[in-house]
Amino acid sequence: MKRIAILGSTGSIGRSTLCVVESFPDRFQVVTLAAGRNLDLAFEQAKRWRPRVISVAAESHANNLRVRLNDSGITDIEITHGATGTVRVATHPEADFVVSAIVGVAGLEATYEAVRAGKSVGLANKECLVAAGELITAEARRQGKPLLPIDSEHNAVHQCLRGGKMNEVRRIWLTASGGPFLNTPKSKFADITVEQALNHPTWKMGNRITIDSATLMNKGFEVIEACRLFNLPPEQAAVIVHPQSTVHSLVEYVDGSILAQLSVTDMRLPILYALTYPDRIPSDLNFSLSDLRHLDFCPPDMEKFPCLRLAYEAAAAGGGKTVALNAADEVAVSAFLDGNIRFMDIPVLIEEVVSETSAGKMESIKEVLRVDQQARASARERVARLAGVPVAARQN
Ligand code: MG
Repeated sequence: MKRIAILGSTGSIGRSTLCVVESFPDRFQVVTLAAGRNLDLAFEQAKRWRPRVISVAAESHANNLRVRLNDSGITDIEITHGATGTVRVATHPEADFVVSAIVGVAGLEATYEAVRAGKSVGLANKECLVAAGELITAEARRQGKPLLPIDSEHNAVHQCLRGGKMNEVRRIWLTASGGPFLNTPKSKFADITVEQALNHPTWKMGNRITIDSATLMNKGFEVIEACRLFNLPPEQAAVIVHPQSTVHSLVEYVDGSILAQLSVTDMRLPILYALTYPDRIPSDLNFSLSDLRHLDFCPPDMEKFPCLRLAYEAAAAGGGKTVALNAADEVAVSAFLDGNIRFMDIPVLIEEVVSETSAGKMESIKEVLRVDQQARASARERVARLAGVPVAARQN
């Protein structure tokens, strides 16, 4: 029986994890949950899963949840809140495996503490590797515990890497759908609207990740994640556009063999893989190979999508640069969504913030959070300056 802690239980990965647990009750048990702000769902999950501990966002949420559980006759669940609550959930002595799926830098500290406490960790939070990857992977190596990727591309690479030794890898190939502007000429980029950018061809996702997919920054973050997770230099982490999103990623070996992972696009599969690693167990997540007609691949256009170039540069420099890349991107994307900057301003703004940030090595999560705050403040200043100038007066 594997005993599981879920950070971000009310989010999409958290809910999919609970689906997997539900399908294999003899293998997995939920011991702790970190929920956040969705109190109705936190209450339902507490009632259904009866964890030892549940953590919610704020003290007021915790009080509210306590009253509701008491009214239902449930008094044996420890209810906690905030950052310390999330750490308590992540480091609970009864948990063997922690699923890290809190979106944003809020999940950093708890994930790092889980690794430090010797837990096996399934990673679905991007910031853990983009902003704090050097710290977290170094600690996991020290502990001798695996970090198992739940992002579909990295999960695919992890699977394909079992086909050879690390020193036999020529490069990994991360597949990218290409986003809604794959075939839009660069000359039209100045007119891209929020509605167009939110209209992703193959995936329905949250707004930030949808815009990050349109700029290819999401793929850039995945390059950084892959470099940290698999301990590879950026030159060995290539991106290939694959509009069908059927091949989740590939590994090319020195002898010229390329191994690919194909499966249904359902997050329950990478979650199941992470939870059962190093074993595989039967599931009903089948992929119909005979329905597959063709697979297309083409290289990404780094000139049209400068965010991908910026991510490669930040990956090579490391330290504070990748922290700033993530922070500036989050601010720039929300400014674009609010109509304050144009689509083309996103990479310009990010490049400025990253270039003023030092590449210094991050020694602690506290330092990561400090550089993150600084980069956000700088990005916000730039947004204010850009938004204050009429669009026609701006230079391209
Ligand atoms: Mg992905």
